[in-house]
Parts: sequence; structure tokens; C-alpha cells
Amino acid sequence: GFNCGIVGLPNVGKSTLFNALTETASAQAANYPFCTIEPNVGRVAVPDPRLAELARIGKSQKILPTSLEFVDIAGLVRGASRGEGLGNQFLANIREVDAIIHVLRCFEDDDITHVEGGVDPLRDAEIIETELMLADLESLEKRIVALQKKARGNDREAAALVELMEPLIAALREGRPARTAIPEGQEEAVRRLNLMTSKPVLYVCNVDEGSAATGNAFSDSVRARAEAEGAAVVVVSAAIEAEVSQLGAEDRTEFLEGLGLSDSGLDRVIAAGYRLLGLRTYFTVGPKETRAWTITAGMRAPQAAAVIHNDFERGFIACETVAYDDYIQCNGEAGAKEAGKLRIEGRDYVVQDGDVLLFRFNV
Ligand code: GDP
Repeated sequence: GFNCGIVGLPNVGKSTLFNALTETASAQAANYPFCTIEPNVGRVAVPDPRLAELARIGKSQKILPTSLEFVDIAGLVRGASRGEGLGNQFLANIREVDAIIHVLRCFEDDDITHVEGGVDPLRDAEIIETELMLADLESLEKRIVALQKKARGNDREAAALVELMEPLIAALREGRPARTAIPEGQEEAVRRLNLMTSKPVLYVCNVDEGSAATGNAFSDSVRARAEAEGAAVVVVSAAIEAEVSQLGAEDRTEFLEGLGLSDSGLDRVIAAGYRLLGLRTYFTVGPKETRAWTITAGMRAPQAAAVIHNDFERGFIACETVAYDDYIQCNGEAGAKEAGKLRIEGRDYVVQDGDVLLFRFNV
């Protein structure tokens, strides 16, 4: 599965957000094992309104959403790359995640200490980014020495790694995160270097309750920074989300509408995390269940089938495919077939987001 690590300075609202995410998930889906796996790891259902539509047409008994894992990573403070706070242990946790959700404090509250003095989300963002860049730089500088030696002894693999690392080191020395210097087509190779600043980032602005619908001056400043970096931003009030997570589905909508909010901030965080990871969803629909499955962008049909079961990939023959909109417009598979909207696709087919699939395979 894929996961997002929640990072940020102390007292910015990370745990409040994490708890709201995981509590809502367990409240929403009693028939699915969304749970807190470890104290700081939670699996969360990915909300998708298409599921209910498909289940209605397919007369499914059950709906099974797909899920995303969130990890609450506490302990980052200024100096973490030198071992301050939980230091190295904290950094090891960040290396493991696929994407970073960076929570920034955008609310004033005199009762809640800010470790850096006053509220300033851009300064906070820079403190964290600097620690991560320093740790990445140190790790690369250490590794490249041995690789350069091997490369001089005509080790081609080592030479390729040196070539991959050089522009990353140069960027980090200039104070730019590694994600700004990934050579075209080298995404996977860079991913294997396990750096922190090469991972995609989503900024979550934690604003006061009154600014949840509109954002505030703090979150506007973060938005400007994110736009310049090509990063994503979501504005939430963790305090509101904590309340929402305690409500049932019906009360929730009413509560949110009362605050001028059209949807829950958590749903937006989950959706943004999903996009950040480049994930796509396809569906299987049957009388027993309508289910969402997660794949990565560009994945072909046999690999998409393997998400359900490895045997599906090995014995893959073909898949019957109906695009989501066609499925709804034609009122299901039979109608889609009549209308000529059901396609038979082979092993080179790149599965599209929203495809309703039925795999044919040999066992
Ligand atoms: P963490 O250290 O980043 O995990 O921060 P916590 O989630 O533990 O929050 C620190 C404190 O800030 C707690 O007392 C929270 O109740 C409070 N807090 C979190 N989010 C908000 C918010 O949106 N508004 C206000 N006023 N307080 C909040």
C-alpha cells in the first residue's frame, strides 16, 4: 500500500489531524478493517462518491472503498538533522513514506505554545525543509565517496549512481530540495535513494475555526509559496475536523453546512494525498460488492489485475472495460454492451481512472 507521513513542528495540530482522520475512518466503515495499525499508523478509506452510484446500479450488497495509510511522525524540531529531539529516529520514519503531508500552524492561540515564538507558517516550513535538506545532503555526501572510488575502478553501476547523485547534491548545496533536480525519466532511480526532499509534498494549513471556509492571511502566504513550488495546499481546521470525526454521517453534513463548508477537510486531505501519489482508481462491480482498487498512473491491465490477486496477472487473458460515465449512462454492464461501450482490452491496455473492469484469466 501507499502511505503519507504527517510532519510538522510540535503543536501545529499533527496529532489532532491524524486522530480525526483515523477516527472518522473507523466510524465510517464498520465492515472494513480501517484501523490504527500502530499508535501512529492509520489506514483511512478514500472517499469516492462514484462507489455509491456503481453499487446502486450493480445492486451490490456491500461497498468497499480503497484505502491510504497515514503515519503521524512526531518529534521534528530545529536541529533534527544534528540529532536534536528525536532526530535520527524521526528522520528514518520519514524516509519510509511515499509522500509528505506538511502541517503548518496557521492559527493563533495564546494558550498553545509555539516552539519558535509566534505563528509564522513560512518560517516553519523553511525550518523543516532545511532539516530534511541537511539530512539528505549528508546522506548523499557520505554515500558518494565510496561510489566514486568504485566508479574509478570501472564499476558502471557505481558510475551511474554518481551521475544520478551529482545534480541532487548540487541542488541541496544551493538550498533547493532534491525534488527540484530529478533528471527526466530518473524518478524511480531517485526514489530508490530514499531521500526525504525528493518526495512529493502537500501543505496542510491548520487554520482557526472561523477561517476554515475562507482561509486566512497565514494560509494565503502558504498558498503563494506552494504555487511557486508547484506543491499542493489544503486548508483545514483540525479542531473542526476533530469534532466532525465524532459525528455520524447525517449530523456531519448539517454541521459542516452550518459552518459554510461544503465538504470535510479530511476528505480533501485524503483526496489530495491520493493525487499527490499519482494514484488512480478502478472498480469491480458485482452483486456481492462494489469495490475500488488503487493503481499507479500508467499501469497496464495485467499489473492492475495483480492488485486483486497475483494469479490474475500470471493468467491474464483480457479484460472487459466500461468507463465510469458510460457505465452510469447505460445503467450498467448490459446496457453498456448494447450501446457498444463495453470494450475488450488486452495486456497492453493502460487502465484509466474510473474504469469498471472484469478480468478474464486462466488459473
Ligand atoms: P502536534 O504536536 O503537532 O501533534 O499538535 P497537536 O495535534 O497535539 O495540537 C497541539 C495543541 O493545539 C492541542 O492542544 C490542540 O488541541 C491544539 N490545536 C490543534 N489544532 C487546533 C486548531 O485548529 N485550533 C486551535 N485553537 N487549537 C488547535
